[in-house]
Amino acid sequence: MPQMPRVYKTPAVVLRQRRLGETDVILTLYTANFGKLEAVAKGVRKTRSRLAGHVEPLTQAMFLLAKGRSLDIVTQVETIEPFQRLRSDLDRLSRGLYACELLDRFTEPRAEHFGLYRLLLDTLRRIEQREDIDTPLRFYEMSLLNVLGYRPELEECVACRARLEPITNYWTPAGGGVMCSACASEEMAQHPLSANAVKVLRLLLHGSFADVSRVTVDADLGEELERALRDYARWVLERDVRSAAFLDTVRRGLPRVTPAAPAR
Ligand SMILES: [Zn+2]
Repeated sequence: MPQMPRVYKTPAVVLRQRRLGETDVILTLYTANFGKLEAVAKGVRKTRSRLAGHVEPLTQAMFLLAKGRSLDIVTQVETIEPFQRLRSDLDRLSRGLYACELLDRFTEPRAEHFGLYRLLLDTLRRIEQREDIDTPLRFYEMSLLNVLGYRPELEECVACRARLEPITNYWTPAGGGVMCSACASEEMAQHPLSANAVKVLRLLLHGSFADVSRVTVDADLGEELERALRDYARWVLERDVRSAAFLDTVRRGLPRVTPAAPAR
């Protein structure tokens, strides 16, 4: 007897879309109830698709999904929040898409985490509405690192454990945070971190968004913070991507060697 498909409903943000065949797309969704998952939206690339307007990246929508054999299928979708203004401004759009990409890369499928869903939505709203569109992104990066267990050390030197002085120190993603000048190698001298940057990083880690948004960050400090957090996130991701790729190889088993045909 054929089994009825199990149907479920969840709000979700579309993180990305990729083509599947002529007319379909695979959506990567970050859902409120089930974490990240992939689902097929059929016929989206036909001119008169009723789904198309609701499944663009950055849209928050209510999805009705049916369990499929491999990927689940979008059966109904209705936009909750289109993020129109975010989408129509290139500076805001690029930041919104970066936020989505980061969440996609940092999370495993089907690991429910409502806090991350909220964080993404809050961030997209801030990027859409605020004058200063970088602070929301810095707050998001630090929150993501913190929530997922990659909080950088900002109080003590990661090498000698001395309390950091309010002077120029050094930033070391590989070391897990800040290093003092006595411990920093010559190579690290290229990655100084100002006393002000450390202060703002601490506030990003421990403060609320309201606290952070009261701080005035000039262009130089803004660039310094952007570079520090992006380097840190990239380092964590590359390390994880490598270990994840290794784990996948182990799970799949080693490649099978085809025995040579017996000689006759
Ligand atoms: Zn030190």
